Amino acid sequence: MTNVVTIDGSEGEGGGQILRTSLALSLLTGTPLRIENIRAKREKPGLLRQHLTAVNAAAAIGGATVDGATLGSTALTFKPESPRAGEYTFAIGTAGSTMLVLQTILLPLALAGGESAVTIEGGTHNPSSPPFDFIDRAFLPLLRRMGADVDLTLEHPGFYPAGGGKIVVRIGPAKRLARLELDERGELVTRLARAVVANLPYEIAQREARTAAEELEWPEECTQAHTLTGSRGPGNAISIIVGYEHVTDVFTAFGERGVRAEQVAHDAAKQAKRYINSGAAIGEHLADQLLLPLAVGEGGSFTTTPLSSHAKTNIDVIRRFVDVKIDVEEVRRGVERVSVTRNPPQKQ
Ligand code: AMP
Repeated sequence: MTNVVTIDGSEGEGGGQILRTSLALSLLTGTPLRIENIRAKREKPGLLRQHLTAVNAAAAIGGATVDGATLGSTALTFKPESPRAGEYTFAIGTAGSTMLVLQTILLPLALAGGESAVTIEGGTHNPSSPPFDFIDRAFLPLLRRMGADVDLTLEHPGFYPAGGGKIVVRIGPAKRLARLELDERGELVTRLARAVVANLPYEIAQREARTAAEELEWPEECTQAHTLTGSRGPGNAISIIVGYEHVTDVFTAFGERGVRAEQVAHDAAKQAKRYINSGAAIGEHLADQLLLPLAVGEGGSFTTTPLSSHAKTNIDVIRRFVDVKIDVEEVRRGVERVSVTRNPPQKQ
């Protein structure tokens, strides 16, 4: 039997991503996993509902035997069989992020050799998580370019704290994930400051979109304000969508009680400006999330703004499961190039 990989969840970033990346890699490589000190660096360590749903989802698609999958648990053992395509529904039960549950099971299902339909209920627009627009407009187009066949639909938006959101994902079989080369972003083709509100005055979205566009020195045509229907509770987010010939990235900030719309717009515009001015192909979040598909696929490379601790921790976790070379070099001030190369199997 393959040796168990033991991961210390307190290392590096010390958050939920270590758990999700480990579960995905355990499924993708068929390697049993033991993870300890889960989310040790977070205010409320251990498995919260979103993480527990990710564990249960991974177990369901991978026919895994699991020990320690309870709320608050700080250690678990996960022994998977092969991932099975099929129809699945997972409900987080809180406003916890549906996108993070999807992040755990997407690649194992994409490479499982059949058609899947997955429904996930919970939050769809969450702070500190990839929001729906980011996955839909930035992450999935790159995954499709690598050969994945994935369609994502927002059935209902879900904001913290009310939740009640729902996404549906159709995943077709992909034989492999091809190399992705993203060293250059190409010419600028799309600029959009898109603010949304649910159960809040429309004028908030208008002010936000306008403020962000002003800060970015974009014309009025580059703004959109929308009211989302079907949300259980109030919510507000602004996404700044920057599309180049070879890649689109999305930068998000969330409205909060007591925080002015102008401040929310400023936070999103600041992230977008940093990326635009860097000249790098992708921003911080795409960089940490692309490492896994590159490592289990045929590799590739990208330029990015300096790697976050999420990305560095992801690299450490990936190296524990996959025989892969990941090099990071500074190309110029504020830009790094990451290259991922699968090591050829050793001759006996
Ligand atoms: P963790 O903090 O360990 O639970 O991991 C959070 C994950 O959410 C990481 O993969 C981050 O890249 C991702 N994330 C957080 N904020 C954003 C954002 N604004 N846009 C896209 N991804 C995000």
